[in-house]
Amino acid sequence: MKQISHFINGEFVAGREGRRFDKRSPLDNRVIASVSEAGRDEVNAAVAAARAALDGPWGRMTVTERTELLYAVANEINRRFDDFVAAEVADTGKPVSLASHLDIPRGAANFKIFADVVKNVPGEFFEMATPDGRGAINYALRRPVGVVGVVCPWNLPLLLMTWKVGPALACGNTVVVKPSEETPATATLLGEVMNKVGVPPGVYNVVHGFGPESAGEFLTRHPGVDGITFTGETRTGEAIMAAAAKGVRPVSFELGGKNAGIVFADADFDKAVAGITRSSFENCGQVCLGTERVYVQRPIFDRFAAALKASAEKLKIGAPNEPGVGLGPLISAEHRGKVLSYYDKARAEGATVVTGGGVPTIGGDAADGYWVQPTIWTGLPETSAVVREEVFGPCCHIAPFDTVEQAIALANDTEYGLATTVWTSNLSTAHRVAREIQVGLCWINSWFLRDLRTAFGGAKRSGIGREGGVHSLEFYTELRNVMVKL
Ligand code: NAD
Repeated sequence: MKQISHFINGEFVAGREGRRFDKRSPLDNRVIASVSEAGRDEVNAAVAAARAALDGPWGRMTVTERTELLYAVANEINRRFDDFVAAEVADTGKPVSLASHLDIPRGAANFKIFADVVKNVPGEFFEMATPDGRGAINYALRRPVGVVGVVCPWNLPLLLMTWKVGPALACGNTVVVKPSEETPATATLLGEVMNKVGVPPGVYNVVHGFGPESAGEFLTRHPGVDGITFTGETRTGEAIMAAAAKGVRPVSFELGGKNAGIVFADADFDKAVAGITRSSFENCGQVCLGTERVYVQRPIFDRFAAALKASAEKLKIGAPNEPGVGLGPLISAEHRGKVLSYYDKARAEGATVVTGGGVPTIGGDAADGYWVQPTIWTGLPETSAVVREEVFGPCCHIAPFDTVEQAIALANDTEYGLATTVWTSNLSTAHRVAREIQVGLCWINSWFLRDLRTAFGGAKRSGIGREGGVHSLEFYTELRNVMVKL
């Protein structure tokens, strides 16, 4: 069976005897890998290696040398594209088409983009007058934060991890990554890439394990970690923030969401149906930016609900390499239990189940996979747990609205503030919603379409800080102001 080890100081390290956990395939519940679980010793070793690299070869490198290495990392990911796709698909069960169009290309691109950003970032320079007439100059240096702890989720494993590691390394930091226990493979494979292209040992380290009382907690509580970047659930963010309080260390958080889609009666109907189908069901609904609440203007409500039902029912559920497959399984038995508990709650609270609501019949070897049906409800009150809490599955609730004001109020009535998708052909309506909606990301007549140089992040309980382009530098560098008397 495949053994997955930590990657510490440029070496694959199995760690202590007996501390391992099983990774199961979402497709059939079979154990596919045995993964090392880091204790305090492994985390200490990884942080020490990261510190030594920071104080050593990596810290001494010029920006040009560093960015050349990051281009080489991107190229090597692309050269081993099929290996990365296979590893990501094995861990997640997602369609090969999705992993090869989204996860892995973006994983490579994240290194190139941030190499370009740091090469081109403008500096700050001021001349000031002094009483003696000779003046002074002030300029700012951007220095790395130091050793960065990177804690990742399982839904887009390589993509979201490199979205942090790319800018962290480009800015001259070193990292210790804690991938999700559900998706250990691609972070480990990236260790091979780092060695191959000559990234110095200790710059990129990976420790595997869980959250509390395991690698995640040991890493985030480690006094040698200078900053923590985290993507995951809001309540995990609370635990990590408490850990980071010791030593007053900075955090960057991308957290949960309960995103609204708003469809106006004047929208291009077919495009809106296709857009909401994608935003609600892509990656089996396991996308933080996904739409779980859909508000549709009353004149088209019934027609839209019927069209979305038809569109959802066309999605093919199945194995990653089946032609035309649109939906894989959920990530784990535990997560499926959570999603199905919301399916039960919806029924108990009196929802009309427009489609789905259960488990599809999949026979043969895949019978024990973590499958669920794409599901659409109507008729729930806005106070329902299904409408208020993040399910993170392939499901949405559709409710009608009458006016723009009402749509905005409904969409904003949540503790979260990650993303929204608005469908309208009226320019004023679109811009008005964009201004009044309380989110970090607002799509108009689109979804998941974003220039990676722009800011990404959540408002309210959906995050702290922004990532993307120069915005990532806010977290991954510290400004040092230099004042020179002339
Ligand atoms: P999670 O919070 O359960 O776990 C994320 C990571 O945190 C894992 O590596 C886990 O082991 C670790 N962890 C858990 N408890 C910890 C602790 N006490 N200390 C340190 N580390 C700990 O999230 P998940 O289930 O992996 O991912 C799904 C969640 O992520 C959803 O809420 C989703 O919305 C969110 N998400 C947000 C974004 C975004 O950009 N805003 C992107 C993807 C996913």
